[in-house]
Amino acid sequence: MPAAHIDPDFVRMLPKAEVHVHLEGCFSPSDLASLAAQHGEPLPRPVEQLFDFAGFDEFLEFLSWSCGLLRTVDDVAAAAYSYASRATASGVVIADIIVNPTHWASWRGDLAGLIGALDRGFSAAEVDGLASVGLCISILRLQTAAEAVQLVDELIALGHPRVVALSIDGNEALSGRTGPRFADAFRRAGAGGLYRTVHAGESSGPEGIRDALDLLGADRLDHGVRAIEDPSLVAELVDRGIPLGICPTSNLTLGVFPSWQQHPLDALRLAGVRVSVNSDDPGFLAIDLAGEYERSAATFGWSDDTLRAVAATSLDVCFMNNRR
Ligand SMILES: [Zn+2]
Repeated sequence: MPAAHIDPDFVRMLPKAEVHVHLEGCFSPSDLASLAAQHGEPLPRPVEQLFDFAGFDEFLEFLSWSCGLLRTVDDVAAAAYSYASRATASGVVIADIIVNPTHWASWRGDLAGLIGALDRGFSAAEVDGLASVGLCISILRLQTAAEAVQLVDELIALGHPRVVALSIDGNEALSGRTGPRFADAFRRAGAGGLYRTVHAGESSGPEGIRDALDLLGADRLDHGVRAIEDPSLVAELVDRGIPLGICPTSNLTLGVFPSWQQHPLDALRLAGVRVSVNSDDPGFLAIDLAGEYERSAATFGWSDDTLRAVAATSLDVCFMNNRR
């Protein structure tokens, strides 16, 4: 059911929010090559093979290397500003971005410093009329319960207005079931006034989504697409109005679904789930958000009104747009 005509300018200009994107995944190979050169660091492999990872451990190792290149307040502020600038070019007016402190080697033990540096870049972007960006500070699934609680307590004590949510990311297929381990941290985050967003239903199936809802109190799900395997779960997402931050190209790249046509984005939307379209790791995937909207519209035959409705949902579900 291809769309009769999609106007790329209309898609790009449509005011929208991005709610599932990782700052760690926003760097292009050339961004990293110039940061490495600036700090006199050798590249681990040639620039054209920089993103060739063999497995999740190598991916985590790479994140430590790449984010480790951002050492000064200026480095981090520039990365934050750069995201706001690129997102604005896709029509993003407001966004929630995920930052996982475990990857930022140079900022270990200085969460306040990292958040302050990010805030400097995002504040400068706002002054320049670019997208306004809130922070979802993330736990890694491999961390301990104590580390997670410590992070949450620190976030709440800090009370930084740029931080809108607690997040959790990482590969659930490798870490196993971890919902019970992080329930206390998420309960504290909710009590402390933070929103809660949870990666689930991508490397985990419907059972991961159930834990996200029942144990972690998720206000929103990152991915959540494998809910499609359980009609009763889809009905629950609709009843409770739980939004999904869906990233089609990311899912196809990791083989969660075999093709755009078989991706459940539109089936979930038609079932009444609050879906938004997002880029996840635009640097790694060499995509931008407007392109994701375009490919979605082309694949599912979306009219301009449907595109408007999806963009409006993204704005409705953006934590930064609904600050507590
Ligand atoms: Zn993600």
